[in-house]
Amino acid sequence: MYDIIIVGAGPAGLTSALYALRGNKKVLVLEAKNYGGQILNANKIENYPGISSISGYDFATNLYEQVKNLGGEVRFETVVKVNDNRSVVTNKETYFGKSVILATGAENRKLNIENENKFIGKGVSYCATCDGNFFKGKVVAVNGGGNTALEDALYLSDIAESVYVIHRREEFRGENRYVEELKKKKNIIFLLNSTVTSLLGNEKLESIIVTDQNREETTLKVDALFIAIGQVPKNEIFKNVVDVDEKGYILSPDGVHTKTPFIYVAGDTRVKILRQLTTAVSDGSVAAVVAMKEINE
Ligand code: NAP
Repeated sequence: MYDIIIVGAGPAGLTSALYALRGNKKVLVLEAKNYGGQILNANKIENYPGISSISGYDFATNLYEQVKNLGGEVRFETVVKVNDNRSVVTNKETYFGKSVILATGAENRKLNIENENKFIGKGVSYCATCDGNFFKGKVVAVNGGGNTALEDALYLSDIAESVYVIHRREEFRGENRYVEELKKKKNIIFLLNSTVTSLLGNEKLESIIVTDQNREETTLKVDALFIAIGQVPKNEIFKNVVDVDEKGYILSPDGVHTKTPFIYVAGDTRVKILRQLTTAVSDGSVAAVVAMKEINE
């Protein structure tokens, strides 16, 4: 019997683990993929208080090691069900907890067009910092208008020969300072009011078709397309124990409790105003402290 089972080893889940371990609780963290979650995709983090600049990979690794050094147990298994009695079923085992913290974050939104899945790893990528280096001196495109797309484009502009930035509106959702930096780069080409409508190639991506607001199509020869059009939560399997909003984010009256006693939520996977590293670690600490208090009671 664990005191707290944490589902997800991103910044929120690992921060919950850190706080619970420091509270001398028996903790299990379950993670389907890699520790770190989406922050692994961040080339540089420059808005975390007290740290002027750090890579997402270093941040995630430091946090993971901090948890491991405190004796944290992290198992790389896929959770398939959480029951209201706080048993957690994975693809390998069933674990029992006095409490469960859901910190599963969100996954990359897909364009949902033909060939997208076929070309993943063959020119289609959702992570510029992971895959950008494969395209040194090549022509690449970034799709999206948020901070992720803008940061990706900046990162890729130092690696690739040229970078198309394709965004469906005129205005960017991301911060203006990134847009200004991109405008100074000679190898950035903006294609605004445009969407990627086709992915073409045989064995790998060779070109994309971009359609503008007047329905005019342009074919661009590119070696890679980096899709950065936001995230979607992955909470289908928790619907027996939580309520979700229309987009699938977990509803919580106070940002920590769910509708099921002793099952809590933390991080990007819940309904919230701001999904950033600072708010993820904040959620993680609050969830752990509340869980510890309530199981002690
Ligand atoms: P985001 O802010 O949700 O932006 C997603 C972008 O993709 C938007 O520009 C959106 O267009 C576009 N989009 C959505 N669906 C689309 C579709 N089907 N086809 C074409 N375009 C589509 O996502 P994000 O950039 O990944 O950022 C997520 C969160 O992390 C944000 O809060 C962001 O500020 C934060 N973040 C922060 C940093 C940092 O501070 N250093 C770095 C990265 C991310 P519209 O604008 O038209 O909706």
